[in-house]
Order: sequence, then C-alpha cells, then structure tokens
Amino acid sequence: MIEFRGVTKRFPDGTVAVDELDLVAEQGRITVFVGPSGCGKTTSLRMINRMIEPTGGELRVDGRDVLSADPAELRRGIGYVIQQAGLFPHRTIVDNIATVPMLVGSSKKAARDRAMELMEIVGLDTSMARRYPAQLSGGQQQRVGVARALAADPPVLLMDEPFSAVDPIVRESLQEELLRLQSELGKTIVFVTHDIDEAIKLGDKVAVFRVGGKLAQYDEPGVLLSRPVDGFVDNFVGRDRGYRGLGFLSSDTIPIGSLPVLSVGDPLPDDGWSVVVDGSARPLGWIEAGEGRVTEEAIVPGGSLYAVESGSLRGALDAALSSPSGQGVAVDAD
Ligand code: ADP
Ligand code: MG
Repeated sequence: MIEFRGVTKRFPDGTVAVDELDLVAEQGRITVFVGPSGCGKTTSLRMINRMIEPTGGELRVDGRDVLSADPAELRRGIGYVIQQAGLFPHRTIVDNIATVPMLVGSSKKAARDRAMELMEIVGLDTSMARRYPAQLSGGQQQRVGVARALAADPPVLLMDEPFSAVDPIVRESLQEELLRLQSELGKTIVFVTHDIDEAIKLGDKVAVFRVGGKLAQYDEPGVLLSRPVDGFVDNFVGRDRGYRGLGFLSSDTIPIGSLPVLSVGDPLPDDGWSVVVDGSARPLGWIEAGEGRVTEEAIVPGGSLYAVESGSLRGALDAALSSPSGQGVAVDAD
C-alpha cells in the first residue's frame, strides 16, 4: 500500500535525514516508526503525503509515485494527526471537524452531521460540540484531531506522536481507542512514536530507526523482541530488562471452559498460561506457573488480550515465533 524503495531525504544543508529506506506499510495495518529523537521518523512520515519531497528512491502510495501525484489530490486520501492537535482556536469543535468535509464539497448541514458522528466514533461526548478547543483537555483535543483527520474518510492515516503530550493514563485510553477504532475502520495507519512501549502495543509491524535515518529492523513486535538483529535494536527494545508480554487467548481455539479468566493484578494460573499465536488449536508456548502477573486486560474480538509481566516469557515467545505465522503475540520491555 505504502512502499518505500531506497527512499532518501537529503536536506539542502546536506543533512541526510532518511537514508535508503526500504519498507512496505501494509494496507489496513498499523505500521509504527520508532527510534530516538532525530532519527528521521517525521521526515519519513511527511514524505508520504509529500509535505517533504524525497530526494532519492521511489515512494509509492497505492501504486502511485508521490512525486508524480498532485499533492492536493494525494493529501485528500491521507489524514494527518500531529502532537499538538493543531485545531483552529476560533472555531467550535464541531466546526473544526466539519471543515474538512466542507472543503471537499459537503453541505454545511451534512458536514456537521458527519462531525457529530465522528465525535462519537472517537469517544467524545457530543455535548462538547459547541465548545472551543481551549475549553477541552489535551486528551480531548487529540480526539478532535483524530476525528478531523478521519472526516474525509481517507484510506490512509498518518500520526506523528499524537499522544506524546498527554499524561500516561489518558495516553493509554487513547491507545485503546485507536486500536478499537482501527478494528472497525481498517485504515492504513503509519504511526510515529519515540516510545517503544507504544510502538509494541500499537504496531502490527514496527520499524526501528537509528540516528542517521537508517532502518535498523522492520518486523512484528514479538520478532523484534525475541530476534533483534543487532545490539542497537536489542538495547532499544530493552530485551535484557525482562518482559511484559501480550498474549492473545482465543476462544476460537481453546474450549472456552479451559480459558483462565484473569483480571489485572492476578498471578498467572498454576497450570501455566498458554500463549496462542495463530489460528491453529495448538498452544505454542507456556509461561511458568507463578512467574508472572496480569498487568492489563482488554476484550478484543474473539477473546481476551492480557498483558503479563514475567521473567520466563522469553521461552514462550521463542516457541511462538517459530510457528509459521508468528502472529498474535507481542512483548513489551518492562
Ligand atoms: P525525528 O522525527 O525522528 O525526531 P526528523 O525526521 O524530524 O527526526 O529529523 C531527522 C534529521 O533531519 C534530524 O537530524 C533533523 O535535525 C534533520 N532535519 C529535519 N528537518 C530538517 C530541515 N528542514 N533541514 C535540515 N535538517 C533537517
Ligand atoms: Mg519527529
């Protein structure tokens, strides 16, 4: 869907911000760009909607080279969300969101109706519609930013550290909301963050950049953690500091009666905790009894997702990742 083939950005002052980037951000998936400050994440992101022009290689969106696309037309299909939500301060919330559909030809009434619908979609109380941005909290403003980016129903959504400026509790709820939204809308999302925890939580695939604009590794989260390509990635994902794991327990694949029902704070059950990583009925790994505890729980389609802290998750993951699909498990450095 979004293909980088040897894409380079050299700024006029000679700075190489992105150096021969090769990756494909798949359609309907969340691709995360993560890495230390200054490693070229924002530059890579902004080349997708041609806010920055590549100086080498080929960058295609939906098969079309961005340099041969009309920038206005290109951007119509690409929503963009940044850290400071970038709302119009003198317009109400509903009008902030409605502006985009109106720009592309909707009537004021239709655009406002759509805006109200989007407020609900992103989890904002519609009673806030008549307020101004300054009357909303940071987290609420970010939700408006997301709603506005979705207003023209673009197939692609670019998000540059959208949740970095909000406090950790609100950030978590925004992350959950994004995952829920994504499971309903199935956008192609490219999400930039410097926070490896956020990358692991949100990414179907994660691109780790190193300073100098080089891609260090591009893989599913579980693979990054269990098979980092080098010391830089290893260090960045914090492999040596123990694990927090996300295991998907699927009610499709295990008889429901044998599924442990866990809550946050619970120790892992004595008979071990199975980690199911693909659609087959075979649990692919176990965490030793009593060696971990649940830190988060989320109900997702088909089962529950538990985050666990455990020193022995590594073995489970190694088993999991040697499966052909290797999907459904993510680990998080603690
Ligand atoms: P990140 O988003 O990962 O923090 P950026 O993509 O913003 O990094 O920047 C990557 C590198 O490119 C940095 O060294 C930054 O200083 C440099 N850079 C960004 N924009 C420009 C510019 N307009 N001119 C020159 N250098 C730039
Ligand atoms: Mg940046």
